[in-house]
This record gives sequence, structure tokens and C-alpha cells, in this order.
Amino acid sequence: MSGKVFLVGAGPGDPGLLTLKAARAIAACDVLVYDYLAAEPIVALASAACEKIYVGKKAGAHTLSQREITELLVRLGKEGRRVVRLKGGDVFVFARGGEEAQALHAAGVPFEIVPGITSALAAPAYAGIPITHRDHNTSFTVATGHEDPTKGFSSLDFAKLANPAQTLVFLMAMGNLAGIVEQLLAHGLRPEMPVAIVREGTKPTQETLVATLGTIVAEVERTRFAAPAIVVIGEVVREREGIRWFDRHPLFGKRVLITRPLRASDEFAARLWEVGAQPVISPTIAIEPPDDEASALRAVRSVRSYRWIVFTSANGVDAFFTRLTATQRDARAFGDVCIAAVGPKTAQALATRGIEPDYVPSHYVSEALAAGLLERTKMGDCILLFGAQEARETLHETLRAKGRLVDIVAAYKTVPRHEPSLEDDARSCDIWTFASASAVRSFAQALGNGARDGAQIVACIGPVTAEAARACGLRVDVVAEQYTIDGLTDALRAHLALA
Ligand code: SAH
Repeated sequence: MSGKVFLVGAGPGDPGLLTLKAARAIAACDVLVYDYLAAEPIVALASAACEKIYVGKKAGAHTLSQREITELLVRLGKEGRRVVRLKGGDVFVFARGGEEAQALHAAGVPFEIVPGITSALAAPAYAGIPITHRDHNTSFTVATGHEDPTKGFSSLDFAKLANPAQTLVFLMAMGNLAGIVEQLLAHGLRPEMPVAIVREGTKPTQETLVATLGTIVAEVERTRFAAPAIVVIGEVVREREGIRWFDRHPLFGKRVLITRPLRASDEFAARLWEVGAQPVISPTIAIEPPDDEASALRAVRSVRSYRWIVFTSANGVDAFFTRLTATQRDARAFGDVCIAAVGPKTAQALATRGIEPDYVPSHYVSEALAAGLLERTKMGDCILLFGAQEARETLHETLRAKGRLVDIVAAYKTVPRHEPSLEDDARSCDIWTFASASAVRSFAQALGNGARDGAQIVACIGPVTAEAARACGLRVDVVAEQYTIDGLTDALRAHLALA
């Protein structure tokens, strides 16, 4: 049986620029062949069972030649595997996708091409440079700068390229920049023609250098501007000052430490990518089954013996449904039991299981929740509180005092756990974020006294976390008003905009 090889463009760097079709192909493949241009969240779309073969050029790793990569794709396809060959930008824009497709065709291996967003278009866009603009040009040309024009063997037609009414985009041009500029000037472009070089376009490390044909070579030398970068030449470069957006965001370029448990980090990381920040995921806590697993199971089995169930976190909802599914049951098990959800994320976790909570307190403080539940229940009603083992709620006391029968069952426990790289990760970041008191405490414990002398911005999701941070000797700079990831991102934006 023959497999299939998908030649997939991964886009220029920002994982948000991956196409839906590419994401589906990656999620469904059993081998992923990728190189260093692929951002972490893109590689993470592959399943746990997917074999990941790294063929890129990173220090320490063996690099495959193009011939070896092509042979590898043919072999995997012939073995019947479903292969995704991931390439930076687009598959056919200076990426040797053509050769790979030809080899697959010759070998009789079925393949598909999934185009990607090329850096030739995305890098100028993220630098705020419109590649065409009615005021300036009627065409654009994308060319390789890989060939040295001063050596006499360039196939580039500089007489045609030196047309002030077109935008020129050169890829791989940093090595030959002086020669390219010299040829364009010799063929009639004026030294005042604006030039922009965009390096690491669409990434938090994006940098843009703006000069003119006459000054760009000296500017590159002075600033030591290096590849990977694209060179944009044309009047359109003038529009950057008005259109510039990505590198204007207050969070742009900031490295942000996320200390949440691994699974909960993805959403925050995606938000940070959107605003041009670099997420550094280094959890300080992990979610584990509770010590008293028997009670958790019993509570799930006898769910209908309660009048109300209170979920205080999305983790609690996950823990409930994991156990429900394990006993071959589904959401119907709730019957007419009422459900309260604390916080929008908890409500969302229920919603994805088709459950609309009966009560979501508008503001989460224990007293408000207690009052809301008392209003909705009567003496003798059974209420299950299904939350974190380490929760220090006083909710049950208020409820019991009013004659409600309260069962407190641990759904999961939060344990301190961190990678050996935590301290280095933290030091490399401009901003440390904490979304729970337990994450802060574990962080402070891991870093010891070192935690205190960080010059970084410390941001907490809410007052309880902030209090825990202060108790650990951290100076807290930002506390979110909305106790959610979006709230935290907004608070950081506001803080940095003022700074
Ligand atoms: N297929 C890729 C290009 C591969 S050639 C695409 O469509 O984008 C590699 C060259 O692409 C680099 O030398 C650089 O000129 C350019 N490049 C790739 N990613 C880039 C990025 N994020 N920012 C700026 N230039 C980039």
C-alpha cells in the first residue's frame, strides 16, 4: 500500500498564519519531517504517536542534504506512511518543493501540496509595508538574492528589476546585498529609493531597518543586521510609518514566562503570539489525580444523589468527565442535578460538553457564591463541591450553617513540579506571569532567594495570586482586573503602554 506525502507550507513564523488545511494535515499525519523554521506550536499540532523527524540546520543536530530529504520522503511514502513535509513560508517559493514533488511523482508516491504564506508577502505586511499601493506601483517582483551579481553568472535581469514602478522583494539577499544594490543603481534606480530589510518577520524577534539604496549597505554594516531577512525596495516602504502595527504593540518582542500547568498554557501562549510577544512555557505546577481517588469516583457515580454540583475550575470539570467516560457514561448522568460554575473558563469547559450551567456567579468571591447558592437551594439539599484538593474554601461553612448538606470531594490535586530549565527560562524573560497562588509558591521555592532580585515585570491573574506572590517576596507590578488570561493580557498591555 502506498502512503501519501503532503508538502505543507508552515508560513513565515507566526503560528497563527498556518492555514486550516495545513493544521489538519499535521494533526492527521504519522510522520512529520520538519526543519528549524517550524514554530513550536505548529509541531505541537502533531499527535503524540506521530514520528517527528528533524532535518533542519540547528547546532548539534545532523543535517540531511536535499537529496537525502527527498529520498526519505519517497521511502516513507512507499512504506505506506502519511507524511507531512513541513517547509517555512510557501512550499514552492525558493524552497525546493518542486524537486520534492517531482521525485515523488517519479517514484509513484501520491502527494498533495498545501501552499503556505510566504515570507515575501508576510514580512512586509507585518512591518507595515503594503507590497502594492495605488500611489506607488503596479507590480511586484520576488527574486532570490542568492546569486552573486558581481561574479557575472547571475541570471537576474537587473535592467528589468531596476524599475521604480515596481516593488522588489529579495529573499536570501543579505550575503550579496552590496552587489545587488550596486547593480540596481547602475541600471538607473535612484539612491533615494527607500529600502526596508525585515528580519525574523512575523515573529516577536522581528526587526526592521529602513534606509535608502544609497545608505542601506552602510546601515546594515553599522547595525550588523543579519539573515534571515527579506529586502524590500520601492516607494511603498515610505508607508511604513503610517501603517506600522505589529511592532507597535506594547507587548511586542517581550518574552513572557508562563508558569501554568502545561495543558492550560496553550491558550495564553496563543494570545501572546497574537500581540507579538514570545511565550516561554515553563510550568511550575502540574495537575494530578487526588489522593482519595475512591471518593472522587464515588461522587461521580452517585452524581444524582446531589441537588447541586459546584465546579470551581475547568480542571474539576475535566476530572469529572474523565471519570464519567471511564465508567461508560456521558452528560446524561447529571439528569436534573443543577450545576454551578465558578468563572468563565469553568462554564466554557462545561459548554464544550453540552452543559449550560444553572448558575455562574458574576463575580467570584466566596461570599457571593454562598449567597447565590443559598438563594437557589433549601434546607437539607445535598451540594457537592468538586474542586482542588488543596482548596481552602470557607464556602461549605456558610452553606452548612444554613442547613445544607455539603460534600467536599477533591477532584484533582495541584503539585509543585518544574523543569530543570526553569531558572534559565525565568532569567531570559521580561515578564513573569502567575495564574495561581500554587504556581507562585512553587516558582519561588524553585528559585530560592534568586526569585526576589528579578528586574522583570511580575504579573498576577488576580488579588489572591498577587498576595501569594508578595508573601514570597516578589514585587507585583500588574494585577488583572478580570481574573482571566485575556484580563491578564489586557492588564499587561495597559501597564506597558504607560511605561
Ligand atoms: N519558502 C520560504 C523561503 C525559503 S528561502 C518562504 O516562502 O518564505 C529562505 C529565505 O526566506 C531567507 O533567507 C529569508 O530571506 C526568507 N525568510 C524566511 N522566513 C523569513 C522571515 N520570517 N522573515 C524574513 N525573511 C524570511
